[in-house]
Amino acid sequence: MIHFIGWGSDELMGNAYNPRMEVFNNRFVRGAIISSDGQVLARTVVSDTRKNSDGSGNPEGAYTETREYPLGEVAAQAVGYSTKGKTGIEALSNFYLMESNSNPVVQVVNEITETKSQGDSVVTTLDAGLQKIAYEALGEHNGAVIAVNPKTGEVLAMASKPSFNPNTIVEDWESIVNAENSDAPLLNRCTQGLYAPGSTFKIVMALEYMREHPNDYRNFTFNCDGEYRDAENSDYVVHCYSGEVHGAEDLHTAFAYSCNSAFAKIGTMINKTKFAETAEQLLFNQELPIDISSSKSRFNVTEDSGVWTMMQTAIGQGETMMSPLHEVILASAIANKGVLAEPKLLKQVQSSDGKVIKVFGESATRQLMTEEEASVLSSFMRSVVTDGTASKLRDADYAAAGKTGSAEVSKNGETITNAWFTGFAPYDDPEIAVCVVVEEGETGGRTAVPVAKQVFDYWINER
Ligand SMILES: [Zn+2]
Repeated sequence: MIHFIGWGSDELMGNAYNPRMEVFNNRFVRGAIISSDGQVLARTVVSDTRKNSDGSGNPEGAYTETREYPLGEVAAQAVGYSTKGKTGIEALSNFYLMESNSNPVVQVVNEITETKSQGDSVVTTLDAGLQKIAYEALGEHNGAVIAVNPKTGEVLAMASKPSFNPNTIVEDWESIVNAENSDAPLLNRCTQGLYAPGSTFKIVMALEYMREHPNDYRNFTFNCDGEYRDAENSDYVVHCYSGEVHGAEDLHTAFAYSCNSAFAKIGTMINKTKFAETAEQLLFNQELPIDISSSKSRFNVTEDSGVWTMMQTAIGQGETMMSPLHEVILASAIANKGVLAEPKLLKQVQSSDGKVIKVFGESATRQLMTEEEASVLSSFMRSVVTDGTASKLRDADYAAAGKTGSAEVSKNGETITNAWFTGFAPYDDPEIAVCVVVEEGETGGRTAVPVAKQVFDYWINER
C-alpha cells in the first residue's frame, strides 16, 4: 500500500469535499478528458516537492493535485467537475479516469518510488471548436445550445449560460450556490432546463395531424385572418404573431409561416388519446436517453383536456415543457429518417501513453416515427428556411431546415420571450442537428436562428 504524504491536517481530512481527498482515494493521477478535436477539457496537474533534485527528502515539501479545465466556463456544465461531488462527463467517465492502463513496467517503477501513475484519458464526442462557437454565439443571453450528429448520436456541443469557472469552483462554491439569482449557473440548461416549447411544438402537432389523416393531410386548408376564435366560447382566442394575417394555407404553409391560428384549430381537431400516445412515443414524460443528469419533458394532455388547453398546447404555450436535449432528439430523428441514434458523449478511452483501451460502440437506436413521416416533416422544416420564419438561414451556402419558436412566459411577474430554433443541415444529407434556446430573446427567427447559423457555418464550412 502506498501512502502519499505532504499534508495531514484533520481539518482537511474532515471536509468531504476537499479536492485533496481525491489523492487518498486512488493510486493514479486522475486522467484527462479530451475533446474529439484533440483539446484538453480537463486534466490533473501534479506538484510534488517532497524530494529535492538530488533525490534527498525535503521535509518542507508537499504533494498536490489540481484539476484544471482549460476551456473554463465555456464547457463547464458538460464537462462537469470532480471536486464538489461529480457531474457531467467527469461523473460519467469517472471509472475510466481512475484506472491506469499505462505501461506496467513504468507503473511498477512508480510504485517503488511512491509516484502515482497517470490515469487513462477519456475522449469525448464534444468538439472544442464548436463548443466555443456555441457558447460565444449566445452572447450576453442566458440559454442553451446543443448539437448532435444525427447519424451517430454523438453530442458535438453542449453549451449553457450563465456558467461558472470550474477551475475555481471550490473557492467560489458558496457564492455560486447561494447566489441570490434564479439563474442557476450549475444547471446544464441543455439537459436539465425545461422550457415552454412555443412554436417548435408545431413539429409534434403536424406529426399528430398527419397520423390521424394519413391519406388526406395534404388537403388540410385554413384561411388565416390573424386569429382563431373558438365557435362556442369567444373568449378562447389565439392570435398570429405580431398581428400577421397569413391568408389561405395548407398544413405545409401553415407550418412554414408558423401560423398560430391554423395550429390552434388543429389542436381542437385532434384525438386526445392518440395524441397522448404519440407524445409518449416521442419520449415525453420519460427519462431521455443520455448518460448525464437530465429532466423529463412534461406533457399533460388527457381525455379531459378542454378546448382552451388544446388551443394553447397546439402552439406550445400550454403546460408542455421541453428540454433543449429533447428538442434536438426530435430534430435528429427527423434528420435521420425517423430513427433516433441515442445521444452519447464518450468516444473512447486511451492510456496516458496513447494506447486505445476501449472504443464505445455505436449508439442504440430507436424509431420515433416512420421514414415517410420524417421525410414530410423534413420538407416542412426546409420551407421554414426557404419561405418562412428562419429566413436568416436562407442565404447560407448549405440547405438548412428547422422550426422557430417564440415562447412567451412569465418571469418574476413580467412577460418575457424565449427564442427557439431546432433543426438540421444540410437538408439532403444531415451532418448536424442543433437546438438553440435564447432566454429573453426577441423571436426565434431574430435571436435563435443566427446562433444556429453560426453553429452550422462552423461545422459545415469552417471546421
Ligand atoms: Zn396565421
